Amino acid sequence: MSLRFYNTLTQNVEEFTPLHDNVVRMYTCGPTVYNYVHIGNLRTFTFQDILRRWLRARGYQLDHVMNITDVEDKIIRNAKAENKSIQEYTATYTEAFLEDIATLRLEQPERIVKATEHIPEMVDAIRQLEQRGFTYVSDGSVYYRIANFPSYGKLSHSDFSGIRAGARVDVDEYDKADARDFVLWKAQKDGEPGWDAPMGKGRPGWHIECSAMAMKYLGETLDIHTGGVDLTFPHHENEIAQSEAITGKPFVRFWLHAEHLSIDAQKMSKSAGNFYTLRDLLGMGYAPESIRYLLASVPYRKKLSFAFDGLKAATTSIERLRNYKLRLETDKFPAGTSAAVAARIQAASAAFDAALDDDLNTAEALGAVFEFIRDTNTAMDAGQFLAGNAVGALEFLARFDSVFDVLKSSAHTSGLSDAEVDALIAERTAAKKSKNFGRSDEIRAHLAAQGVILEDTKEGVRWKRS
Ligand SMILES: [Zn+2]
Repeated sequence: MSLRFYNTLTQNVEEFTPLHDNVVRMYTCGPTVYNYVHIGNLRTFTFQDILRRWLRARGYQLDHVMNITDVEDKIIRNAKAENKSIQEYTATYTEAFLEDIATLRLEQPERIVKATEHIPEMVDAIRQLEQRGFTYVSDGSVYYRIANFPSYGKLSHSDFSGIRAGARVDVDEYDKADARDFVLWKAQKDGEPGWDAPMGKGRPGWHIECSAMAMKYLGETLDIHTGGVDLTFPHHENEIAQSEAITGKPFVRFWLHAEHLSIDAQKMSKSAGNFYTLRDLLGMGYAPESIRYLLASVPYRKKLSFAFDGLKAATTSIERLRNYKLRLETDKFPAGTSAAVAARIQAASAAFDAALDDDLNTAEALGAVFEFIRDTNTAMDAGQFLAGNAVGALEFLARFDSVFDVLKSSAHTSGLSDAEVDALIAERTAAKKSKNFGRSDEIRAHLAAQGVILEDTKEGVRWKRS
């Protein structure tokens, strides 16, 4: 069977192949760096990691772009409250985000791009929309006129034909039922940052960010665009309206949306105040791989109901997997190779692949792995699992782990000595001083991957092993 994904645009499960050669051009809406991300956000990023890994397992190469929204209302408000520049304020949470995704073993996209480093591209996109008659100006700000884009609503499958023409909104996030002309360029207000542009000093709206950056790096038509389900409207609807008005071509072929993570039957969100960050859970003593396992184990289009029992069950599942691997590596099995066991390995591997090909059905893939473990443990106990079968079983486990990545314990991953950690921290401090934030981010992420957690304090940098 072929690789298939559910496409929000068509509301169908469709066979996936990239448009150009073997390379999947993919865009992900990244975090708004005004705070630590919570595990509901990390669920979406974990889904993207599983997607990346499975596309690669299926032989594709990736060109994956993720944006960092580093200028926005909440950032401006919070930075001002802390008396910091926007750059200073967002650097902290950008670093923290990169550290969190490294801790959860989420691969970094090929390109992580910051909004504030792409203002000219956004200005250019807005100018093109102006030339094509999709904009108007009010109070110095530029708005997108959605009445001029007849297929507005095609992604969220909403009928917006009754929209009030000219009703507009300055904020980037708004109510689901409320389609309005949205802001492309916000005129500068007192005390706010602004960039020079032909339409006056100001800053970009959130939606134009993603259109401009996605098309700059990935071209006019992307293979896949992912995000959390709450971005479908208005954000992704607006991305389509902007991009397609500019190019006249389909912006994205496959839209993949991850469902919410809920807690006590409510959506986990910062506004509801019912959230945990990754740091909260690590502080309670949960291992990163248990959190990763829990987030990955529920298929991405199903709501994931977060509970501590689930985390404990994830920990137990990982223990079973590790014990099984240890048994394969250390037990003395009778000589020879059993054809029946070899066939069982092949069947398990085929079931695993088929499950992930089916719109990343991670629950079914895990089911195939655990059924296999139960059957082969029984065969081992009965003396029917032979020495020649161990390699095949280990290969299957390796394939599983190339996607789920939970077998290695992060408690033992740091190969760095204390002196090496100190040297890297000194290099990071120097990099920060010389405003080489790229290098300092990189060092922090590298240390996080080695299980070393940094904490910036007034007295300097403190660190510990996770
Ligand atoms: Zn976006």
